[in-house]
Amino acid sequence: MSQLAISFDDIIKAHERIAKVAHRTPVLTSGTADALTGAQVFFKCENFQRSGAFKFRGAYNAIAQFSAEQRARGVVTFSSGNHAQGIALSARMLGVKAVIVMPTDAPAIKVAATRGYGAEVVLYDRYTEDREAIGRQLAEQRGLTLIPPYDHPHVMAGQGTLVKELIEELGELDALLVPLGGGGLLSGCATAAKAMLPACQVFGVEPQAGNDGQQSFRTGQIVHIDTPDTIADGAQTQHLGNYTFPVIQQRVDDILTVDDGALIDAMKFFAGRMKILVEPTGCLGAAALFSRQIDLTGKKVGVVISGGNLDLMRFATLLQAAG
Ligand SMILES: *Cc1c(COP(=O)(O)O)cnc(C)c1O
Repeated sequence: MSQLAISFDDIIKAHERIAKVAHRTPVLTSGTADALTGAQVFFKCENFQRSGAFKFRGAYNAIAQFSAEQRARGVVTFSSGNHAQGIALSARMLGVKAVIVMPTDAPAIKVAATRGYGAEVVLYDRYTEDREAIGRQLAEQRGLTLIPPYDHPHVMAGQGTLVKELIEELGELDALLVPLGGGGLLSGCATAAKAMLPACQVFGVEPQAGNDGQQSFRTGQIVHIDTPDTIADGAQTQHLGNYTFPVIQQRVDDILTVDDGALIDAMKFFAGRMKILVEPTGCLGAAALFSRQIDLTGKKVGVVISGGNLDLMRFATLLQAAG
């Protein structure tokens, strides 16, 4: 059997690297959420992380390990937004130049925030151009180090630190629900969870319109799909990664899906009941629980709220469209 890309030890080391700079995000509870689900629910709120999403953890962990030469040349990445902001902020903190390849239709708030962190933004058309090819080309031409959004061991290990924090705080946990795009978050979280609590069940949750992760998990091969049509823009990935998939296969119990309507219901719940702003992708785990994709009655459940970067006008439009 070939070795998996990350171990729990990588997560412990990543946590030491980011401990002084990343926020130890709050764990929130809600009596209404418990009543609705019959479970004891603990929300790990990465919408309060630096740059507004968990992506800061993996990005910082990756750039912090650059050699002096890599630091001098700079970093490049492609991203639908939150990884871009995580890279841009981490690069600025570590004194490294950042170039970010972003889709022309990325939420304006994410493009603006990325530029605000001092990064150079290169735009591309997500429906006709290949972002990975553009990123690789920039890396080659300018001698930049490419840090992809999910398929990189340092990124995966960084993301797993949030579950290490959650379990250190709670002690026990029967199940964990984690949003799934390309699998950097899920592979890291599952690695931490299974190492600390072997009996804890770990579920990935992805948009129904883009269930490539579920198909891959069930068939045992990485399934590629067209860019899915969903409001969960952080999970519009076309396939899992060569590093993330084997980890997910081995350490994740199942992959669930939710539709956009369930995501909007969850966003409403978070804003209305818990007074927190969560972006559609950040709602995937909670939406699976609220819409009963899985019955966790009587269980102690951790739910990863992965991010809160959401343009307020877009939020209003989504709520209005849902009626
Ligand atoms: C990137 C992202 C995800 C998905 O993470 P992957 O590592 O690609 O699976 C989920 N939620 C938010 C808010 C994100 O930015």
